[in-house]
Amino acid sequence: MALETYKKKRDFKQTAEPKGDKKSIDKNLIFVVQKHSATRLHYDFRLELNGVLISWAVPKGPSLNPANKRLAVHVEDHPFDYKDFEGIIPEGNYGAGQVIVWDKGIYMPVEGTTCKKENEKLLSKAFRKGDVKIILLGKKLKGEFALIKMKSEDEKAWLLIKKKDEYATKVDILKNDKSVISANTIEKLKSKKKKNG
Ligand code: MN
Repeated sequence: MALETYKKKRDFKQTAEPKGDKKSIDKNLIFVVQKHSATRLHYDFRLELNGVLISWAVPKGPSLNPANKRLAVHVEDHPFDYKDFEGIIPEGNYGAGQVIVWDKGIYMPVEGTTCKKENEKLLSKAFRKGDVKIILLGKKLKGEFALIKMKSEDEKAWLLIKKKDEYATKVDILKNDKSVISANTIEKLKSKKKKNG
């Protein structure tokens, strides 16, 4: 799998981010959303597909309101075990700043089957077409979403849109700013960094 770009950007002697040697053994596909305070705050939206995490950076973060079409910039694949990464990327390194696991869960294509391999085939095709319709079963993000590639000059520009269903709401889900795997918030990690000098 193409993790060269991911690896090229990092010095694993300096950053605690995963090298990418763990494989998925789960029978479900997983997704993760990492809140990342780098040069600019953004949310990294990642879907497991064919052993890696296909990834988008969402500057405004995901929304449960179908009226919000959120720009999602397609970025390089990340290793599967990046799903659990939370902490501080030290200064001078790519993506320096704080990362929390803002949401995670399993996902499946809307018109999927119970077979992971079959679902990955469907998703690969949808991804190539630039029209991915999925169901997320996270702690914060739930229900149907669409990732649509924009017809623009910019090959990397997609939109992340909540579909109308029973989970659609105007409530701002980003206000729920805690990690789903720890008690961390970005602010907590920032103050930790100060304490340690
Ligand atoms: Mn990021």
